[in-house]
Amino acid sequence: MTEQTPLQEIEHALQDACEQAGRPREQVQLLAVSKTRSADELAVLADQGQCHFGENYLQEALDKMDALAERGLVWHFIGPIQSNKTRDIAARFDWVHSVDRLKVARRLSEQRPQTLPPLQVCIQVNVDDEASKSGVPLEGVAELAKAIVDLPNLTLRGLMAIPRADSDDNNRAAFRQLAMTLSQLRNTMPALDTLSMGMSADFGVAIEEGATLVRLGTALFGPRPAR
Ligand SMILES: *Cc1c(COP(=O)(O)O)cnc(C)c1O
Repeated sequence: MTEQTPLQEIEHALQDACEQAGRPREQVQLLAVSKTRSADELAVLADQGQCHFGENYLQEALDKMDALAERGLVWHFIGPIQSNKTRDIAARFDWVHSVDRLKVARRLSEQRPQTLPPLQVCIQVNVDDEASKSGVPLEGVAELAKAIVDLPNLTLRGLMAIPRADSDDNNRAAFRQLAMTLSQLRNTMPALDTLSMGMSADFGVAIEEGATLVRLGTALFGPRPAR
């Protein structure tokens, strides 16, 4: 029997999780989170058919984009955004999952080159209300969403969260909260279609709670080296 690649193993796990949740596999997109991984490691996955990659650190990401420019990959920025870094993010990425304030959204829209399609964005929500973490608090989501849909060069796609990860039960509650918040927004913004939630340790739970995109690093690449 031939050994499976990590990508094949994850594909089976995603199929199982979707089946368990009674959802079609096509409803859940796999984002390969490639922070700290070399361009060569990404190329291996790209050769196996993976096109969506998520990066947290701008300079590291730009280097890999240059190295892999010919491959037509789709790049997602998922890290905290400093407002002095928005120009490169707006110019080089296809998606941004970590928009959590209007100032950053405005800059991304202003700096998105007119030659490119609108930048696809998600609002990062602080579902646990931890003071230390990025993300807009739940009660601020509707107002920020309303402001972002008016920005010409962004397309608001949905919501993203990184729950505290202290237990499956707490994460399930957080995922459910995020899903409910999206469903409320969809009353007035029916085009929103993305729930970016679930990482290596909890993607099964996230899929049960309605994730449309899971962000997996460790499960695909193994433990992350220290940066
Ligand atoms: C690093 C990271 C991930 C992937 O985490 P794993 O546990 O390695 O799957 C997902 N989302 C964000 C925002 C991250 O920073």
